[in-house]
Amino acid sequence: MRANAVPYGIAEVDAMQAVRHWVVRHAGLVERAYGALYAVLRAMGPLARAIGPTHLRKPVTGVERAVKGFLFDCRMCGSCALSANGMACPMNCPKQLRNGPCGGIRHDGTCEVDPALRCVHLEAWRGAARMRAGQLALAPTPPPRHERAGNSTWLPLMVGDEPDAAAESDVPVRPSGSRLEALFASGTFVVTAEFSPPDSADPADVFIRLDPFRGNVDALNVTDGSGANCHMSSLGVAVLLAQAGCEPVMQVTCRDRNRIAIQGDLLGAAAIGIRNVLCLTGDHVGKGDHPGARHVGDLDSHTLLATARQMRDAGRFLSGRKLSAAPRLLLGAAANPSALPLDVEIGRLRRKIAAGAQFVQTQYCFDLERLDEYMRRVRAEGLHQRAALVIGVGPIASAKTARWLQENIPGVHIPAAMVARLEQARDPREEGRRICIELIRGIRAIPGIAGIHVMAYRMEHLLPSIIADSDVLAGRTPLFSATSPIPDHRGQP
Ligand code: SF4
Repeated sequence: MRANAVPYGIAEVDAMQAVRHWVVRHAGLVERAYGALYAVLRAMGPLARAIGPTHLRKPVTGVERAVKGFLFDCRMCGSCALSANGMACPMNCPKQLRNGPCGGIRHDGTCEVDPALRCVHLEAWRGAARMRAGQLALAPTPPPRHERAGNSTWLPLMVGDEPDAAAESDVPVRPSGSRLEALFASGTFVVTAEFSPPDSADPADVFIRLDPFRGNVDALNVTDGSGANCHMSSLGVAVLLAQAGCEPVMQVTCRDRNRIAIQGDLLGAAAIGIRNVLCLTGDHVGKGDHPGARHVGDLDSHTLLATARQMRDAGRFLSGRKLSAAPRLLLGAAANPSALPLDVEIGRLRRKIAAGAQFVQTQYCFDLERLDEYMRRVRAEGLHQRAALVIGVGPIASAKTARWLQENIPGVHIPAAMVARLEQARDPREEGRRICIELIRGIRAIPGIAGIHVMAYRMEHLLPSIIADSDVLAGRTPLFSATSPIPDHRGQP
């Protein structure tokens, strides 16, 4: 059942989905009908004001709930985003994203959380293509105003009390002071890697894991409860990495914290000297080790980017309240060149960059042909000049692992020939390492790519030889040098 679902029966859910699909398929027609309805509602203004909003609230809300419930499976969020979302109600997304799809969409277009549902955001893209603008607007749909939940959005139209449209931000980008940003700006081919936080309160358990990365990476990207599992926080680990002389990239997901907590964390991170933040939606709580936890999803990756950008460049919280000192941050986002369809992926990238992404880190890329095609589209739009693209790679331990990755990590595509190579290899682990090296060389040859991001979960010991044999550092000393000091924290949790 849908994570945020009301308990409908299967037949009712099927019927609702059928109506929703019809609406999206006829989004152009519905847009025109909606425009006409809005004109009628506005024309009723004098009458509505004469009767008074207090008397109209209940009947208008009731009619709106019934009509929009039938047509759009509307949740009456009170911050209607139908017209901005291809006539697909984003509140039906189990992660409650206002902008999507998330990285979890399945290859057949169904939802990561509930495979019985078509991804509502894929529908939004399809619906938008049939509407006047032909695509979703670049500016992300703002987060909902939860205090308006259950309220009519028609009544404010009738009485002339419409909320102001959010102002477009054209404030200049403030420099972050990030060493990673300087490296991107210099045109150096950058090497980053994933760092998995321990299940421990001992800093030594962080420092001890740093050995394979020393002298091999420019920055380490710290996961934030990856797979919705509980570990040491990304903020805590990022601080420890900075103490060890490593440039950290702090992942921030929207799964566990609301907009108040996230903005506070961004200020705290910047105050400590963390300069790089990767803005993510995060896996659904149902996937992790605390499936009974509440999935927050107050922001999504797009609105998190826009919020962090507003804090940095305009010096204001999302609420508009002024900051006495703005955070200095380099903002990143995730992408997935292997997800289908490519048009939606490119559109998603375009929107994330417009929302504030300055670097983009991708999911694992095992298919160079597909990546080449993706990069052709990226270069055609000049997106690589607006954000540094860092491509995800990693060694695969065996054919069994390859199949597991395909089945369990959304959007991962491993060509059949690669799986066969692993299957036939005498030493599959070594073969996986060789494939990873070949991929790095192939990725480097594609124009417009700014670097690689190595994800070698539980195979971190292979990283030094992968970096050396691929010659990806080309003899230069990375930001996290082999001579960086090892802080002594043993026994100080
Ligand atoms: S795939 Fe992701 S974005 Fe799409 S409906 Fe499911 S949770 Fe939401």
